Amino acid sequence: MSSIGQLPPTPVSATSSNVVLVTGGTGLVGSAMKNLIDTEPVGSSFGKKKDEEWVFLSSSECDLRDIQQTREIFGKYRPRMVIHLAARVGGLFANMSSQHTFLRDNLLMNDSVLQISHEMKVEKVVSCLSTCVFPDKVEYPLTEEKIHLGPPHSSNFGYSHAKRLIDVQNHAYHDQFGDQFTSVIPTNVFGPGDNYNLESAHVIPGLIHKCYLAKKNNTPFTVFGSGRPLRQFIFSRDLAKLFIWVLREYKEIDPVILSVAEDDEVSIKDVADAIIEAMEFTGPVEYDTSKADGQYRKPASNAKLTRLMKESGAGSFEFTPFKIALKESVDWFLNHYATDARI
Ligand code: NAP
Ligand code: GDP
Repeated sequence: MSSIGQLPPTPVSATSSNVVLVTGGTGLVGSAMKNLIDTEPVGSSFGKKKDEEWVFLSSSECDLRDIQQTREIFGKYRPRMVIHLAARVGGLFANMSSQHTFLRDNLLMNDSVLQISHEMKVEKVVSCLSTCVFPDKVEYPLTEEKIHLGPPHSSNFGYSHAKRLIDVQNHAYHDQFGDQFTSVIPTNVFGPGDNYNLESAHVIPGLIHKCYLAKKNNTPFTVFGSGRPLRQFIFSRDLAKLFIWVLREYKEIDPVILSVAEDDEVSIKDVADAIIEAMEFTGPVEYDTSKADGQYRKPASNAKLTRLMKESGAGSFEFTPFKIALKESVDWFLNHYATDARI
């Protein structure tokens, strides 16, 4: 029985296909994954397998909020596996101003992708949560089993609840139908191809863009909030590699946190200072404390990831040092400022 009235009753088998479909394939994480698949040797740990075809979807090809469009695009590619990255994503200030849009767009996209994956008997789906799904008031460090222990921080409750629900959906599909749908929980992501829009960006791309403009226009570089909040940041290429490990090796329905170590927290002031250094900015720096700080910290443990990677024979994962990854992101921004549509 279909859970939505209008769905066609006959599931279509996708087993003969060897397509890995990446929703949100044009975004920050999707483009890092595409880059990895295009450059890593076939058959290597983070490369594609022989005879595997990877398809990276854009919203221009299909609006995943629409279940019929989703059915058509899945019918076209018949994926064997799906990495579900597509989402309405934004930094603290975008979330604060549009809770309903973040809630609804993400609910609709997640429902379409999971339901159509179920109908088409996709072998495995890996979806993406975020550490903001965790309760605001909970004992640190954040670990996978604490997701549903209390309400998320109020600053992004729309996005957080939609993302949390993916975990509930995954369990429901598994419980009732045996589907292998799982999820990962990354911390704050940054890297080449980020969203540098000043209104909707996360802190690193937002501050890179603002520092660039301050240098160009000879104006102060303004950092929002006190600079004191702490975050764990993950480089998009590292996250793409870990995603591929999850796709190949991770067997659970419960999510796994993809993060640098718990003690690798960086303050917003440290981020601003690293950007100032990478940009060679020498002008005045201001902290606008009339703007929100958001959650003070949300330190996540990567103990489960570390243990499972070792047990799978993958060994310990080498994260790119923060300053090296940041410099690469700044350089990407400078090289693409004039030409990239996302800036
Ligand atoms: P992003 O750069 O904003 O990219 C979003 C992607 O989703 C784009 O490919 C976009 O397609 C696609 N998309 C948006 N609305 C769509 C729609 N209605 N239909 C189809 N596709 C749609 O996001 P990201 O930073 O790569 O995030 C990837 C995943 O990581 C998301 O699930 C996000 O929640 C999660 N995450 C991100 C962060 C972070 O700091 N960025 C942290 C934790 C978790 P077009 O570009 O073609 O419009
Ligand atoms: P979060 O990690 O989910 O809270 O989201 P962000 O990546 O947007 O980071 C928010 C933190 O960075 C808050 O403490 C903000 O006050 C601080 N911040 C400082 N300047 C900026 C900025 O220009 N843009 C954004 N998005 N955050 C900023």
